[in-house]
Amino acid sequence: MKKYLLPAVMLLVFETVAVTLWLTLNNIFYLFNFSYIGASIALGIFLYIKKYRYARRITQLLVGLYILVYLGIIGNENMQLEGFWYYLFTGVFEAATIHYAVAKIFGPLIFGRGWCGYACWTAMVLDFLPYKTPRHPRKKLGWIRYVTFALSFVFVAALFLAHVGNMERIMFWAFIIGNVLYYAVGIVLAFVFKDNRAFCKYICPVTVFLKPMSYFALFRIKCDKSKCISCGKCKKVCPMDVDMTDNSRKRKNGTECILCFECAKACPKKAL
Ligand code: SF4
Ligand code: SF4
Ligand code: SF4
Repeated sequence: MKKYLLPAVMLLVFETVAVTLWLTLNNIFYLFNFSYIGASIALGIFLYIKKYRYARRITQLLVGLYILVYLGIIGNENMQLEGFWYYLFTGVFEAATIHYAVAKIFGPLIFGRGWCGYACWTAMVLDFLPYKTPRHPRKKLGWIRYVTFALSFVFVAALFLAHVGNMERIMFWAFIIGNVLYYAVGIVLAFVFKDNRAFCKYICPVTVFLKPMSYFALFRIKCDKSKCISCGKCKKVCPMDVDMTDNSRKRKNGTECILCFECAKACPKKAL
């Protein structure tokens, strides 16, 4: 039973968030929302334990499509970074602000960049592309994320300073156009760099939150040095160029791990 502890803990964490938000904000939507996300994540981990090959992808589709289609397109909530700034500026603790607080700011203290492996609707599409592991070494282009982060902030701040009307509608269209742009840039970069996750490594502004917070992550890949034979098979399958054999938190690209467990699956000694 010990091996089922992780999905149970994940379910418990999300249920705690669901019930707390439901009762404190007096809105039953949060009970449904976080219960659904928690159950999807727990299901993915459970299927992984059962050695089902597409376990992570199932969770990615369950959560990613729910947020993109149901919350974003049908519910008219801008769930991107612009939506976070928008609700933050208006002082409303709602969908995007709660989503960012749970999945991208405080959640990573527990589950690192699990969001990037199991829930992101951008990566949900990029992971279907042919370059699951990068064909070339990582480029020094990570600075671009700070530019896109700043642009997102300036865009929303400018709308507020200009007292633009009908902001809700603008934010909805910003969500649609922003996603189309993200998908277009992500797909082009994947083919140019021969790396499905090039967008995540160089462009995604959300990593400005995700990386520092996941530095302190409770759940992370660790290497049992007494079992490791330095065969290097783990590094060959990592989509994020992580050196997972180095257990220090300062390891190269340590805050890049998306907890996909590909390295653990590939390890012949069960050292990860
Ligand atoms: S880095 Fe950005 S685009 Fe990539 S999975 Fe994470 S949140 Fe999604
Ligand atoms: S292969 Fe391992 S180190 Fe690389 S992202 Fe996946 S879980 Fe993290
Ligand atoms: S695959 Fe396993 S044994 Fe090989 S280097 Fe990685 S951790 Fe060590």
